[in-house]
Amino acid sequence: SASLAHELNQPLGALLMNAQACLRWLNRNPPDLNAAIRAAERTMRDGERASQIVKTTKAMLSRTPIASEKVDLLELVEETRTLLEYEIERQNVSVDLMSPPNLPPANASKSELQQVLINLITNAMQAMEEAGSRVRRISVRLSTSETGFVVMSVSDTGPGLSSEAIENVFEPYFTTKPFGMGMGLAICKSTVESRGGKLSVRNNDNSGATFEIALPVESKGRLTRMYDVPQMVARIG
Ligand code: ADP
Repeated sequence: SASLAHELNQPLGALLMNAQACLRWLNRNPPDLNAAIRAAERTMRDGERASQIVKTTKAMLSRTPIASEKVDLLELVEETRTLLEYEIERQNVSVDLMSPPNLPPANASKSELQQVLINLITNAMQAMEEAGSRVRRISVRLSTSETGFVVMSVSDTGPGLSSEAIENVFEPYFTTKPFGMGMGLAICKSTVESRGGKLSVRNNDNSGATFEIALPVESKGRLTRMYDVPQMVARIG
């Protein structure tokens, strides 16, 4: 129940906010129909995501979990950024994306991984907001490791984590937020580990935190070439 409440909270909150925005655009004189259409489209996407979460939970409860599939991480990050577009713009955050060319796909579940990324980006935005960070930047870096993993790291320019938080962030119910549930990162960790991956955290040298997800490369039984020089392929946000 705690997991479902936590996971549904974000898309339902976004859905309400987008529906309210849509009404505001329509109530203008004259109405801004293009902005209203965009808000209605975002509302639909939020609804679809909430329904996907219910589907995934039902699949877990019926012991027929979603099978692993080939996940294109670059596409996943771009889609997730679009889903969170409203919040990202509202909070004046920029989201950079770096990836080597021809990044191999990960072997995971796309919808599960999207929830993990949403949690990490939302936490980063909240940390920067709470700390009143002047520079609000999230950098998502994609790479491969020599051990056959495809790696996605999410760094922010927030306050970083205390040593107590570094020790406990992945424990259920650990939270430093007045209205937090402390379930997000515990769910993220078990999701990533259930796909044979790892989730870790460290503080950056200058400021902020970096969460890193490593997932097995989808390799159809052969070892995929490794890349080590990330290249800026897109700057978004
Ligand atoms: P919640 O968001 O409900 O607190 P989470 O499990 O997602 O639950 O996060 C647990 C705690 O980890 C947060 O309360 C916060 O203290 C810390 N945390 C998570 N992400 C970050 C981040 N990017 N920067 C600083 N602290 C973070």
